[in-house]
Parts: sequence; structure tokens; C-alpha cells
Amino acid sequence: MNKKIIYLWVPSILFLLSGILWNEVAGQDTSKVVKKHLTERVIILVIDGPRYSETWGDKTHQYIPRMANDMAKSGVVCTNFFNDGYTYTTSGHAALCTGVRQELENSKGTDLPQQPSVFQHYLKQSGLPSSKAWLITSKDKLFILGNCNDTKWNNKFNPSSDCGKNGALSGYRNDTITFNRVMAVLKKDQPNLLLVNFKEPDGAGHANNWPEYLQGIRVTDSLVWEVWKFIQVDPYYKDKTTLFITNDHGRHIDGWKDGFVSHGDDCDGCRHINLFAFGPDFKKDVILDKYYLQVDVPSTTAELLGFPLPLGQGKVMKKLFKE
Ligand SMILES: [Zn+2]
Ligand SMILES: [Zn+2]
Repeated sequence: MNKKIIYLWVPSILFLLSGILWNEVAGQDTSKVVKKHLTERVIILVIDGPRYSETWGDKTHQYIPRMANDMAKSGVVCTNFFNDGYTYTTSGHAALCTGVRQELENSKGTDLPQQPSVFQHYLKQSGLPSSKAWLITSKDKLFILGNCNDTKWNNKFNPSSDCGKNGALSGYRNDTITFNRVMAVLKKDQPNLLLVNFKEPDGAGHANNWPEYLQGIRVTDSLVWEVWKFIQVDPYYKDKTTLFITNDHGRHIDGWKDGFVSHGDDCDGCRHINLFAFGPDFKKDVILDKYYLQVDVPSTTAELLGFPLPLGQGKVMKKLFKE
């Protein structure tokens, strides 16, 4: 073959090949999510304001039969888990979403968290649409968890949300409505990251209604069990989903202030909360007494889904993971 033709053809073919290879790479999943774990979805279920003493701290587990009898063997029960920040609803949830302890207005939802949430980091890092990260809460004021004040993140990468009766300042709704919304979203949008707030037993506690407070624990126990059962069988979630069941805060111990009615200080009743952790990367049938914190949940979520949480004050809960 004529040398001149070879000189022309070889570089052209190489150029074409490199183009094909480049397109191949570019056409693939270009997200920067770093996959190190089996987990591909994370669901955080927050039961609002039960005390440890009526839940995992009660040896009979009489008010949480589903978690204790049907779910505990599938994951890790953390017995030494605390909210060491502000023991209020918006602050506790903000710590779970941002990994940062911060004091926020707690009645109407007038303060946004200062830092971006796990939702925003996940959506930015993955390049996925907002339908893949969801915030579903019985309390309207928790709509604030979908956004933040950081000017680089405000109104960007916000998750889909469904909070209270109809968003900001609409009032609280019943947890069964929230549960129905959760199941509908899990089936339709199939989010990879979801945080849910159930308002009970906090509502009944503030109403000073002890029987309803206990009933609120029983009902939310049955609702989280329904979600857990769905994860066991649904093809999109089965064997790929980590579930955290936790609280925003506890309530005062008996004999301190108004006891179970209120919360918000640093008594052990307010600080000592629940964490049940279930997922393909975690140990099974383990009771763990390692000291972990509420702000560790978002750090562990970030680790599992492979995105950074640079401002998070927590750490990855390594003892949950299989060795
Ligand atoms: Zn609360
Ligand atoms: Zn207290």
C-alpha cells in the first residue's frame, strides 16, 4: 500500500476509534456516585418523639411488637444512640438530613437548615431528577428539610416533597395518610432516597394523653413494619435497600419537668433515642451498644450511596457493617 495512504488512514482510524470509545464512556452513567456498597437506596423513617423507655428500652417491647419480633433479627438494634444536639422536631430532623446540629424555629417552619441536605447532595452527585429523592412528612413545618440557606445550594437539587395537609402552614395530617403517600411514591417514583416523618407519638404526648401516646407508638410500629415488608418483596428495593428507623428526639424522663408531655432539653429521656438499621451491607440479628449519634445517620447514608457530606458533623457507623 502507498505509504501516503497509510499515513492518512492510520491516524483517521485511530481518531474514529477514540471517538467511539469516548462516546461509549460518555453514553454510560456519567454520575460521580462512587459505588462501594450493595446499598442502592436508603429509606429513613422517623417516628416523632417516643421515649426509649417505652420502646427498645422496655424489655417486654410490648408497644413495638413488629420491630422487636418481626424485624429485629434482620438488622441491628442500637441501644446507645443519642440526639446530642437540639431535642426539638425541626432540629432533630435537620440533623438527620444535614448531619449538622442546629437550632431552628420549631413551630411554623420559618427557618431553613443552614447546610445542604443528603437529598441535595445525592441529586447533585447522581444527576437524577427530583423524583428520585423524596421527603414525606405528617408535619407541614418539615417542608424546610427540602431546602437550605446556603446560597450555593438554595433552591437547587431540591427533593420532591409532600408535607402536612398541603405544604407550608397547612397543618399536620394523620400518619395513615402519610403512610399511604409513602407507599404510592415507592411504587410510582421509586425514589433512591426517602425520608418520612410520622407525627405520633409526639402529638399525643404533647396532649398529655398517655394511652394515646402508647397507641401512637403501636401504630407507627405497625406502619414501619408495612414499609419493611414491602422492601422484602418489591424487585426495585429487595436486597438493595438500607432502612433506618429512628426518632428526632425523645421526651423528658418521669419526674423531670412535665415528664412524657414535653421535650427539648438535655435530659436522658430527650437525648436517648432509637435506631434500628437494616440493609444488605449491615449485620443481622445484632444488638449493638456502641455509642452513636443522630448526626451519624446522614454520614452513613452518604457513605452507602457514595456521595460526599463535607459539612456533616457525624461519622460513618462502621459497627453496623458486615465485617
Ligand atoms: Zn418531634
Ligand atoms: Zn428532657
